[in-house]
Amino acid sequence: TVRVRMAPSPTGSPHVGLVRTALFNWAFARHHGGTFVFRIEDTDRERSTDESLSSIIDLMRWLGLDWDEGPEVGGPHGPYRQSERGELYADALTRLEGSGRVYRCYCTNDEVDARFKVRKAAYDEAKKAAATGGEKPEAPVMGYDGFCRDLTSEQIAAFTAEGRASVPRLRMPDGSITWDDLVRGEVTFETKHVPDFALARTNGDPLYTLVNPVDDALMEITHVLRGEDLLSSTPRQIALYEALKEVGIAKVTPQFGHLPYVMGEGNKKLSKRDPEAHALAYRDQGYLPEGLLNYLALLGWAIAADRDIFTLDEMVEAFEIGDVVANPARFDLKKCDAINAAHMRRLSIEEITHRALPFLKADGVVADPVNDADAQLLELAMPLIAERISKFTEAGALLAFLFVDEDAFEVDPEDAEKQLGEAGKPVLQASYDALSALSSWSTDAIQTALQAALVDGLGLKPRNAFGPVRVAITGKRISPPLFESMELLGRERSLGRLQRALG
Ligand code: GLU
Repeated sequence: TVRVRMAPSPTGSPHVGLVRTALFNWAFARHHGGTFVFRIEDTDRERSTDESLSSIIDLMRWLGLDWDEGPEVGGPHGPYRQSERGELYADALTRLEGSGRVYRCYCTNDEVDARFKVRKAAYDEAKKAAATGGEKPEAPVMGYDGFCRDLTSEQIAAFTAEGRASVPRLRMPDGSITWDDLVRGEVTFETKHVPDFALARTNGDPLYTLVNPVDDALMEITHVLRGEDLLSSTPRQIALYEALKEVGIAKVTPQFGHLPYVMGEGNKKLSKRDPEAHALAYRDQGYLPEGLLNYLALLGWAIAADRDIFTLDEMVEAFEIGDVVANPARFDLKKCDAINAAHMRRLSIEEITHRALPFLKADGVVADPVNDADAQLLELAMPLIAERISKFTEAGALLAFLFVDEDAFEVDPEDAEKQLGEAGKPVLQASYDALSALSSWSTDAIQTALQAALVDGLGLKPRNAFGPVRVAITGKRISPPLFESMELLGRERSLGRLQRALG
């Protein structure tokens, strides 16, 4: 059976990369009828906050990505917060230290750095020499050099007598580590480039390098699907798994799949500094969760070569991790908007109205709670904009002119200058005269009357004939369809606004 997880570190505001990773794990679990675990990686206590954690949970709830084990739902492998799993890590560490795979290292950071500088200087010398003929030197081992790997008991006694602190380090195997990455195919690291690494601090606190694989082992994770930024930690984790198997903590090594980087502007990795990276901003700006998820699914995956729009159910049905591509994906906000707009078009008017309502309330367009008159008007007005918006925050600006009190109605000053000046006056006057003579106030009657007055009467081109009327009535050059808007606004208010614009 498949068991996958999302393992966010609750630091800061959640990133769209986290959502993409969660989505792919979730879809993989649901496709295979497996289990999706939500684990909180708050081992770095200083950077982790409850605020960040609750925003991740809110985000997942908004998206509708449900988890089978984890915060709020519990499960048989809890607790699901690393900060509550100290005993489990202490036990793992004790067992590992009893195996030959882990040794104690007494070096200080300064000593490790100083030895690296010596290696680096020797390498630079040799490289210079090689430039004038001679063999090219091999790059120096980075970081820790295995100094304490094979200390004698006398050396250990001497270090201890000096009062030196020590950390447990995993002995990396010789040769290379290879795995068949679910996304990238075969990946190999030479272990001489992967230093023996510390599993805990000198005070015994476990480090992230230990707890992440220990959790995956204890939670019986079968597939680790995560971002490419973690690729270089995988050889260390695979080596640690071998040790964890030996001491009875891990049963198998999970399969790994590294999801491609998400690139932002200028082909740089999308970072926390990019505003479009913040996942909750999409909720706040009135995207649909199904639209955002559809877009994020496209960052590395496709349902078919000729198809961009799909539902979550369709994704679950079709999702194969082997179809994920390794190439970096480019984040494109315009495309995200277009995909979201396509999902808007799939909703019924009732549904759009229902979902838009909180945004219209927040913008002060309708009262909160909404009154009967506003609710009725909204039902009639929503069809005018449903095809025009790509997210709900756009609704308020388009609809406000219908809901505003007449004495609070304002025309955009820039649009007023362009459309309501001297050239606009005859247009407004002709419109007023034609409309005030109308016996029935319907979209068709309004359209026929205005066309006759402006296009036939004044000889204006249909394309620019209605600009002044639109600005006078809706306050803006960009608005819902004009004649329908005027019908909804009503005769009295429409004529009143024309009169006002005439000054
Ligand atoms: N906590 C890690 C992160 O947020 C994820 C580690 C993993 O998926 O293995 O980047």
